[in-house]
Order: sequence, then structure tokens, then C-alpha cells
Amino acid sequence: MNTSNPAPGGAADPPDWRTPAEKDDYRTTPDYADTLRFLERIASAHPELVRVENFGKTGEGRDLKVAIVSRGGLFEPAEIHASGRVVLLVQNSIHAGEMDGKDACLALLRDLVIDPNRANLLDNVTLVFIPVYNIDGHERRSAFNRINQNGPARFGWRANATNLNLNRDYLKADAPETRAFLRLFRHWMPDFFVDNHVTDGADFQYDVTFGFDVTPDVFQSSADWLRDSVTPELVRRIDAAGHLAFPAPVFLKDDLDPSRGLALHDNPPRFSTGYMILENRPGLLVELHMLKDYRTRVTGNHALLVALLEILNDDAVTLKVLNREADRAAEELGSAEASRTPFPLCFERGGNAVQVEFKGYAVERSPSAISGATMVRYTHKPWNVALPLDAGSDVALAVRPPAGYLIPAQWRAVIEVLEAHGVTLRRTTDSWTGQVEKYHCRGMKWPDRPFEGRHPILRASNVEPGIGEFGSCRLSIATETFAAGTVLAPLQQRLSKVVLHWLEPEAPDSALRWGFFDSIFEQKESGEAYVLEKIAPNELASSPTLRSEFEDRIRKDPDFAADPAARLNFIYRRTAWGLANRVGEYPVARLTSVEGIPAR
Ligand SMILES: [Zn+2]
Repeated sequence: MNTSNPAPGGAADPPDWRTPAEKDDYRTTPDYADTLRFLERIASAHPELVRVENFGKTGEGRDLKVAIVSRGGLFEPAEIHASGRVVLLVQNSIHAGEMDGKDACLALLRDLVIDPNRANLLDNVTLVFIPVYNIDGHERRSAFNRINQNGPARFGWRANATNLNLNRDYLKADAPETRAFLRLFRHWMPDFFVDNHVTDGADFQYDVTFGFDVTPDVFQSSADWLRDSVTPELVRRIDAAGHLAFPAPVFLKDDLDPSRGLALHDNPPRFSTGYMILENRPGLLVELHMLKDYRTRVTGNHALLVALLEILNDDAVTLKVLNREADRAAEELGSAEASRTPFPLCFERGGNAVQVEFKGYAVERSPSAISGATMVRYTHKPWNVALPLDAGSDVALAVRPPAGYLIPAQWRAVIEVLEAHGVTLRRTTDSWTGQVEKYHCRGMKWPDRPFEGRHPILRASNVEPGIGEFGSCRLSIATETFAAGTVLAPLQQRLSKVVLHWLEPEAPDSALRWGFFDSIFEQKESGEAYVLEKIAPNELASSPTLRSEFEDRIRKDPDFAADPAARLNFIYRRTAWGLANRVGEYPVARLTSVEGIPAR
């Protein structure tokens, strides 16, 4: 029906502003074309409030779109920031089977535009939302994409068109979608970020769960505001809207025994909200509960977004100040003073558990003939208990921030990632020789199977027990010469944490971990057996240390002892010829000062 045509009898039909999901009673979710049709219809009816813009293309060539909802004709980021308003960026459907946020945002957009009671939600906030981020995944529609999820009828796929999980790609930025997101982020410099998901995992009474990072790498005052002010307000307002909210993503410590309590997971910058820590901006992870019906989930997501808009309108000034201070603190990481205090790059959750009230469902356990193990069946009997929740964050890795890093120009892919993040880089204009800190990495292990299209170097936490020692990187001081054109990444900038996480080799999502430096671990030269047999006795005779290491290895490692080539290579690698291979020599250097380096 064309709602703008006059109805018979002369009276105009009121326009039908129900969203596609509402029209279909939440049985379905619209495909991308229908999503855009609804967006464009609202945008053309209310151009003074709504604009839809492109921000890039997906792998399959679809247009990435963002909707801007703003009052007073302000649609340019600079004028919006200058007006003192906060920019709220909401991302939907990064996991395209989890599209609740898309339908919630369409309803929210409609409410903001046509409901006079909601108009004040745009007083101090400009809403920028990505209706569908993983569009190629979104269009891979099926009823069988998520076995755990209760509707709608058909929906999209978790990964993008090259089967990458975009929510593991924020720091390494392999996907075209990530590169487009980073450009969008630079353009808007949002004050607050929301990423909408649907859970996996346990069954419980809550329909809305959400969480903020408050680990020691988050600017302390921002963490305090998020934990003590925003979180309880969100819960209160979501519950008042008829939903039930829990202020943490729910991970059971033991799937068979929920009474053992709830775990918190580390949030490295491969994740959207983990990446926001590096951008010095609050990142809100939203997880609607997968087993609730689609209407409950979409309206729950809507209730959360309305509550957040209310809070941000009230606290816009606070948020602006916190972000400015967080940026300044990040710039300070490059100072001589900061270089004395290790900065945390990786956490192990645990330690201080706190008791939290939890509204679960009682479980029944019985033996399973299928799995041969104990199985759990959730009853829908309320199980309201106090559970231990891991609240501690033990620092698993911390480094002294350097003043900056030198990256030799040939490591182009590494440099391009920093450029994609908008990191300020300089290039040396002349060759420079000076004292630097260099890492030497050894004992690295790679997994047999790919992860996100790569074979990332294993971390201690994902090495199976018994596999042995995993690799480590040791710092030493060296005097080196760097050619003209070497990239200087100073730490005195607001993206200092991006630089640290990308270039500190042991950081959880570093370039080294993701395989950007794998070739430094290849031994390119070796010795012929008859040549090594000739020199080995002299080498062993002249170095008692080498001899004892060699004999020790033969005693302890029968495979090695039985492998003639390995025995000869063991000697070769420790000779001057072997060391010339520079295996494991990390080419990025740490600087104690950037003064005097000829660079612009
Ligand atoms: Zn998800």
C-alpha cells in the first residue's frame, strides 16, 4: 500500500511506520535490501533528522551504510563535537546471525523521529548506527545458521564472505569491513560505542546481559563512571521497561554445575570492545539471550538503547571530559615518567570473586547414552541464588612503555595496519645509528589448525599441558643503524595503546602473534653434513657450554638423540655461521627517547 495516497473519502491514512520485523510480528527479520528501504523511507520523510551515508564496501562489494540521527541540521562530526553533543556509535550484526540490534535500531530510529516524547533523547546525543556491519554474512540467510537460537525464521551467518570472524579482526584488520570501520571511526571519533550481540552459552532468566571493561588498562575515572554510575542505571531502567538485565556477559565456570559461579573473560583488542580500550572510549558489549523469543530480544535491545540514550543525555558533559582526560593519559604513556611503570597488556581473570545475585534456572543432571558423559537439562524453574563472580584482573603481561618504536620500512604489512588505525607515524629522513632495545624471540610454537585464516603463535594460556615451554621474547640493548625511510612510531599520541599492542611481540594480538613476522623464524642457511662433521668437534672442544648443552639434549630428548640432522643443526645454529641467520631477531626496536632522530 502506498501510504502517502489519500484514502477513499478524502482522509489520509496515517503513515505506517512499523518496522519490517514489527509488521511481521517478529517472525522474520528483513534482508539488507528491505532494511535499507525502511531506512531510506524514514530518511527521505525526515531529512532534517536522518541521513544515510556509505562508509565502504564489503568483500562481496556491498555498500556499508551508516545512519545518522541528529537534531538541528548537524551532520558533520566536527560541528557535532564542537556543539558539545556526544556521538554514540552503535554497531549491529557483526555476527550476522545475531541481528537483534538491527531491528531494535530501526524501531529506535522511528521512535526518535516520530514520537514527540522521545525527541529530547537527541538533545545532547547524535546517534550514529551501522544497521548491518557484516552484510555478506547477513545475506547468507538460512534457518540453520545458529542451532541454539530461538528465531526469527531465517537469518545470517556469523562470519564474513571469507569466513573471517570480524569480531576477532579489530587490531590485525585483515578484512575490508574492518578497514572501513576504522575509517568510519576516525571520521566520527565517537564518544561511546555499543556492539549488539546474541548470547551463546547457558540458559537463565535474564533477556538482556551487557558488560563494560574496567580492567587496569582502562582510564581509571572512565572505569569508575561505567561501573558505579552507568551500569546500575542501565539495569534499573531496562528492568523498569519490563525486561530483566544482568550487568555482565554470563560465562559459567562449569557448564555442568552452574553453582560453581561465573567467570569473566579477558578482552584483548581483537574484539570490538577490547579495541575500544585502545581508543580510550567506553565500549558496551550487549548480549541478548539466545533462547528468548525474537520479540523479547528486540524490545530488550531497544530498551537498553533508550536507557543508554537517557543516561548519555544526562551525562554528556561528564563523558566528554572523561574522554578528553583518557586521551591525554594515553598520550602520557610516551613520557619518560610513564616508561618507569609497566603497562598491562594481558590479564588473567580470577582472584577476587564477589557474590552476585543471579536469576538462573535450575538444572537436572543425568547420564547421557549419546555422549557417554553427564548431561544437563535446564528446567524453567527459577533458581535465584548468590553466585561467585570473578572480579579480579591479575596482570599476566606488562611492559615498560618505550618512547617509541622504529620499524624498518620493508615490514610494510605491519606498518599498513598502524596506518589503517590512524596512528601518527613519521619516517626517518636520514640513516640513524643509536642505542635501542631489541627483542630476541625463541621457542615459538604454531598451532596445527588455522585460526581466523592465520596460524597465530600460541600463548601460554592456549598451550596444552605437556606440550612444553612456549616461546618468549627477551630484551637486550644494542647499537644499530636504521636506514632512511624507517618508520618511527612515537608513543606520545592518543593511540599509544594501539602501538604498544601491535608492536610488543608478546601482547595477545600483536603483529608477531598473528604471523606478520613469521619469516624471522626461518633458518635460511644450513650446513652440509660432511662440512659440519668436520667443524663440529672443534666447536665442541672450544665451548664447554655448547658441549654440555649438546650432551644434555641428547640425554633428555630421545627423538633428538636419534636424529643425525638435528644433532648437526644443533651445533650449526650455535656457530658464527648459524647465528648469521638471525633467527628470532625481532626487527622492531624500542627507543628510550625519540629526540635527535631525523624524522618527519
Ligand atoms: Zn556475537
